[in-house]
Amino acid sequence: MPIEMPRGLPFSVDTWSVRSQMKRHHFLTHAHKDHSSGILTHSSFPIYCTGLTKSLLLNQYPQLDESLFLRIEVGQSIFIDDPDCEFTVTAFDANHCPGAVMFLFEGNFGSILHTGDCRLTPECLYCLPEKYISKKGIQPTQRLDYVFLDCTFGKFRQPLPCKRSSIQQVINCIWKHPAATVVYLTCDLLGQEDIMVSVSQAFGSKIFVDKVANPELFGALNLTVPEILTQDESSRFHVFDGFPNLYKRAAVKLAEARANSQPEPLIVRASAQWYACDEEYSCTGSEGKLRFDTAVKDLSGVWHVCYSMHSSREELEWALQLLAPRWVASTTTPSCSAMELDYVRKHCLASRLTPGDPLWKLLDIRVDDDDVSIQCTGKNSPVVERVPAEMVGGESPTKSKNGSFSKLPCTLPLYEGQTVTLFGRARLRIEDSFEKCGQLVSDKKGRELKVEIAREEESDKVKVKQQVEHSSVCGEELSEKDGSKVSSSGAASGSSNNLGENLKRYYRSMNVPVPRPLPSLLKLLDNHKRRTKRRF
Ligand SMILES: [Zn+2]
Repeated sequence: MPIEMPRGLPFSVDTWSVRSQMKRHHFLTHAHKDHSSGILTHSSFPIYCTGLTKSLLLNQYPQLDESLFLRIEVGQSIFIDDPDCEFTVTAFDANHCPGAVMFLFEGNFGSILHTGDCRLTPECLYCLPEKYISKKGIQPTQRLDYVFLDCTFGKFRQPLPCKRSSIQQVINCIWKHPAATVVYLTCDLLGQEDIMVSVSQAFGSKIFVDKVANPELFGALNLTVPEILTQDESSRFHVFDGFPNLYKRAAVKLAEARANSQPEPLIVRASAQWYACDEEYSCTGSEGKLRFDTAVKDLSGVWHVCYSMHSSREELEWALQLLAPRWVASTTTPSCSAMELDYVRKHCLASRLTPGDPLWKLLDIRVDDDDVSIQCTGKNSPVVERVPAEMVGGESPTKSKNGSFSKLPCTLPLYEGQTVTLFGRARLRIEDSFEKCGQLVSDKKGRELKVEIAREEESDKVKVKQQVEHSSVCGEELSEKDGSKVSSSGAASGSSNNLGENLKRYYRSMNVPVPRPLPSLLKLLDNHKRRTKRRF
């Protein structure tokens, strides 16, 4: 699902929620349903998108109010006079599906490219303003501050064939099966129209789409490629639903033909899904999935051609080298985080940012220059990617000579639902990490006070135990009297053997390593044990 924009920005992109509804401007990159989910309940004026995206959306949701939309077309720039920060937005072709665009936002907040879903090619990228493009290995004259990048296939290491090559493979596959009197094309997804157009042209035949059984698909194709549609069921080419139960339905079609002594139909699926994920019926095994230059038949009898509307990892890396942005986040979750990309690992390090860098504001993180502490203000803000390992570890933040941070006291916010490495080893959910970050900063003095009280009340074993449990679960840093900092997540001296079995079980149930408690608290526990022994 698409992610929310940082709180400091006055616009949302592809998100329709209570939070995004509160933004003053809304942008829709394209009409795929995962990008318009919630639009019926959380839409508000104005929604900027291309005219085609608007028409496709109204085809899907006829009850949507047409007057909510404002048009922006490829190559068009619109100046938006927002009361807080005026900005300009420009639309660029995303090479994804009909009507799909990327948005470039430029304003006081910096420059942000939001790719939506995209298949980045040199043609797409060289349409962006020249100042943002590297030349001959030299960084752009002006760097993009932030790229929200479609990382759907960011883990896909094999080079994906270009769309034209994939379409040719579909045509070749059909040529090789002249006996197939019916050809089923699983091209029911917005963005697969070019396949149908090419097949229609190559074989001189229109394609049957059942208007009654599939009115939404017919409506969409009628908007994008009306010239290739027919209601004549005798056409050799039929559109076949790709979802759900494609393989079972395909097997039934083939079995029917055999049972009736008819030629087997040809079923072709042009998608990257099978290559990236579908394990069932992969049959020809992983070997088949490594063939990207020809159609491959699976166990159920479906022929696959790798056709991708998203960029491969190779294409993403190349695009990032060309754009050299300062920060990158994935537009979708949870498929792949931007931190998994080599460019981001090497170049997008928060430790390189000075405290005054405007990017902190964009990242929704407050940096306090006085005491070099950093507070995560965006409790549920899903805008920041996994931070480099060097920023995690529970050490005190230190400031280098040039004023940049070498360590942060806590991890930065991650996408909702993802696990996060907090203070080196403890793995908690995002909400937990924010709770702890907030507490670390705001309640630090209160905690220190509590420790002092606990020391004075050393006879109260229960209180001490609670203190150990609470401070250790939080993975927080507590200041000792002499000012030295001790981390309860493992940096402290002491052994986890001192903890009771129940407490250890508790940690394990939380998927948190059993910590070593603070030395001062161990001392308190030891004293208590000694006194108890003496009593007996
Ligand atoms: Zn899409």
